[in-house]
Amino acid sequence: MDIQRPYTPPGKEYFFVPHDHPFMGEAQRAQEELSGDTLYPVGIVLVKDGHVVARAANGFGKKATNRHICPRVVLECKTGEGYDLCHVHDPDGHSEPMLMKAAEEQGIDTTGTSAYMYGHWWACEPCWKTLLDHGVDKLYIVDDSHERFSRDKVCAETLKPQFKQIIIEGFDQPFVDEVNRLCQEIGCSAIQNTIGGVPAPRPGAGSAPIARRTPTSISIFLPGATDPSYVIHDHPVVPLVRQICNVLRQL
Ligand SMILES: [Zn+2]
Ligand SMILES: [Zn+2]
Repeated sequence: MDIQRPYTPPGKEYFFVPHDHPFMGEAQRAQEELSGDTLYPVGIVLVKDGHVVARAANGFGKKATNRHICPRVVLECKTGEGYDLCHVHDPDGHSEPMLMKAAEEQGIDTTGTSAYMYGHWWACEPCWKTLLDHGVDKLYIVDDSHERFSRDKVCAETLKPQFKQIIIEGFDQPFVDEVNRLCQEIGCSAIQNTIGGVPAPRPGAGSAPIARRTPTSISIFLPGATDPSYVIHDHPVVPLVRQICNVLRQL
């Protein structure tokens, strides 16, 4: 298969099976049941002597209770970059090291085993290293994973905003108009909450998130929440309006 993947260790290769291969089915189940990453969930199983002996998923294998608002998405990091910005997307929490941890905890000798990963189309360098250090022989991915699990494809499905409107507090109308213009792309609109310093009625109060300006940042609150779900800081590359839009698409 002649697909260029962002990383392949020297002298190693990826192995492929169809998505409905039984071990991939197990990996898919691990993805659904264990992944703590709501944006890019990945599941993985370890196969030894023809049996699944361990299972794990990314996002530290802690099933998410909340939608993950990822700083990497807000700041538009390139694929494979900016992992240090996000505790969920830290390589330590990727499915491969999680799998090695699960195997270790069960006292399984991982030498000569195979891993089947569902939900991604390549493994990053730290993860490959972890697998190789543990003697894992083969890493299987789905044969059409470069299409099925490409970032664009996955994000088109997971980055669908559940809110159609966001309330903007503390900004002038041109700023709100700019948010509006950008948010149209994702089917959302922005409204100003104050007119001339006077709070305006909130259409559907309690049903839309609020972006509220503070002296140094913008805090985004889910309806009814007192703690912000995300705090946006000024960024040299990604303007505030785009960051608001990028948060909204993850809510
Ligand atoms: Zn993240
Ligand atoms: Zn990784």
